[in-house]
Amino acid sequence: MEQLTADIWVQRMDAGGFPTIAAVALTPTRAFVIDTLMRPQDMSPVVEFLAERAGGRRTVVVNTHHHWDHVYGNAAFPGVDLVAQRACPRLIQAHGSTANESVPLQPPEGVPLPTITFGDRLTYHDEPETVHLIHTPGHSEDSLVVFLAGARLLFAGDTLEWPLPNFTQREGKDIWIHTLRQLKQLPVDLIVPSHGPAMGRALIDANERYISTVHEAVAAAKAAGAGRNDLDLPAAAFLGEDVVLDAVYEAAHRGNLVWAWDEA
Ligand SMILES: [Zn+2]
Repeated sequence: MEQLTADIWVQRMDAGGFPTIAAVALTPTRAFVIDTLMRPQDMSPVVEFLAERAGGRRTVVVNTHHHWDHVYGNAAFPGVDLVAQRACPRLIQAHGSTANESVPLQPPEGVPLPTITFGDRLTYHDEPETVHLIHTPGHSEDSLVVFLAGARLLFAGDTLEWPLPNFTQREGKDIWIHTLRQLKQLPVDLIVPSHGPAMGRALIDANERYISTVHEAVAAAKAAGAGRNDLDLPAAAFLGEDVVLDAVYEAAHRGNLVWAWDEA
């Protein structure tokens, strides 16, 4: 695993072209595991790391939301607390029986459902660290972020993403913008998204600008008669000048245009 700060490590892998991480954050009494990648075996380095480094800490596995690249490795952690937002278990079950062919089959070990859920916020007091799980709907109904107040660090799940966020929740724009404005209130110096490099706070503004300007442009094009599949709105218009997209994120942008057309 790659060490990011004194108490934080990340495990990186490729999920269908998206660079994706799971992370470990050690506090004095707990080892938080944030997301479980695509298969239980993807989490083997994390399981080994915990055996070597976690000592007597209690393992707490957090699912940032129900999507396959964040929860399909849950079976690697039998018997530990699996924590998620209240909507997550239902959405994992629906996700597992979807006809959407972009969603892979569940692993043969199955996907254990979260055992502890919360509504708006769940806080672990672990002096000198305090860990807040905060519901941040927008990317999905059940999205959460993990805010380490002592470290001033935010694990963003897919609520924030670089180089651009993925639209996957119907009627998601307004609630997502609301979520991002709330995130700006948090005293955070480093943001670790599930997809993309660790970054500063500028990621929040960049994602807000992308979400709002894509929706505006698509709504204007739709009002002018553009069809769902003939939106000619290149991503560059919605991103910073220095951002270069690979084929995977070019495709994600085109998918976002269709989601925005449906919502407009
Ligand atoms: Zn994801």
